[in-house]
Amino acid sequence: MKVYKFGGASVKDAAGVKNVASIIQKYGEKDLVVVVSATGKTTNALEVVIKAYFDNTDAKAAFEVVKKNHHTICLELFGNETHEVFDKLQNIYAEVDWQLEEDRKESYNYVYDQIVSQGELISSVILSAYLNEVGVKNSWLDVRDVMKTDDTYREAVVDWKQTQSLMNSVVKPLASGSIVVTQGFIGCTAENCTTTLGREGSDYTAAIFANMLDAENQTIWKDVPGVMNGDPRVFEDAVFIDEISFNEAVEMTFYGATVIHPKTIKPLQNKNIPLLVKSFINPEGKGTIVGGSDNNLPPIRIVKNDQALITLHTKDFSFVEDEIVAEIFSSFSKANLKLNMMQQGAISFEAVVDNIPEKIEKVKAALQNQFDFSIDEKLTILTIRHYTNFEYINKFKNDRNAILEQRRLSTYQGLLA
Ligand code: ADP
Ligand code: ASP
Ligand code: MG
Repeated sequence: MKVYKFGGASVKDAAGVKNVASIIQKYGEKDLVVVVSATGKTTNALEVVIKAYFDNTDAKAAFEVVKKNHHTICLELFGNETHEVFDKLQNIYAEVDWQLEEDRKESYNYVYDQIVSQGELISSVILSAYLNEVGVKNSWLDVRDVMKTDDTYREAVVDWKQTQSLMNSVVKPLASGSIVVTQGFIGCTAENCTTTLGREGSDYTAAIFANMLDAENQTIWKDVPGVMNGDPRVFEDAVFIDEISFNEAVEMTFYGATVIHPKTIKPLQNKNIPLLVKSFINPEGKGTIVGGSDNNLPPIRIVKNDQALITLHTKDFSFVEDEIVAEIFSSFSKANLKLNMMQQGAISFEAVVDNIPEKIEKVKAALQNQFDFSIDEKLTILTIRHYTNFEYINKFKNDRNAILEQRRLSTYQGLLA
């Protein structure tokens, strides 16, 4: 069994869908699960629909934009509106329109998942239909029938046991000697409500399939040749890396290398399933093997923008001792806000986090009786793994002032203003 994952960029238009179909036709004849994301920027467009719904502006008009984009893709792929794919999409659209008429405004995260999840349903219906059209027989699977989660909407946690059991009974027979096309990013609660696994979560979905199906390997098809030693959009001199270990990949993703979703590595490493990062633009390219060795790794640079530095000062000049630190950590954990960097002083504690105002507000509410709370925004974390010397670090700071710096043998991190 093999697992392929195609992200939004690969299916952003009709030419993209045709290219993906040709890759599947050429490299993935059978025993294959294909996980697909929403087309192009559809998830962002659906977030606009959700915003309009909660702002009581014209959500339906915002949704028309999504429909129109897919209509254009389908007309180019299937020629005219007589193809059955148009009816299938109409059913999905009707569901959304119906939801937009409902008044469920009390639970933002719930509504968010019901609507944003439709992007993957739409793209997978289109890809599956197009594959059938060009003679690549496949079964479309509603991933919600197998990917069972808790009800933490927008950041659902997978019920590993139940999902494994459904993978065995449903997916294994369906994919055996055949091709299954399904959705990334989405799941389903025991009460049959749709959930999502967190933005950009389709790589993770694919890794769950690979783990549970004991796949030979997983390929994520991207718009880059493979893993590079920095985002080529940020670093003009970024070079391609042939292979890296699971360990290095998990470190890179932890610090914010967006080429692989951070949750992707663990399920693969746990079963020693190699991850291939390949280019859908140049599928003949060899791609990067994750799960190999780290021979001659170049320094790897990771930039994480939109960071906030939260400074907590004890109001009564208490020292920041263990119990207080425990309380601080607990508040961040309850708000589901990850600490990207931190530093403890005598009567202060500094935490660097992604600037997510609603989560920061929760932390503030929990701690403001005990601490004076201040925030600096618009900061960047520069992480360099395997830096050679300080000159190398300075080159990439670009004359920006580092307000917090941490250096270990293998990793430099600077918070840049
Ligand atoms: P998907 O289409 O699967 O959602 P993403 O856009 O999330 O793909 O990931 C691919 C992008 O990741 C590339 O276009 C590139 O800009 C970015 N990227 C960030 N860090 C790296 C890196 N170290 N190597 C390669 N690409 C990187
Ligand atoms: N479509 C989702 C997103 O844009 C999931 C993904 O692409 O991985 O976040
Ligand atoms: Mg993505």
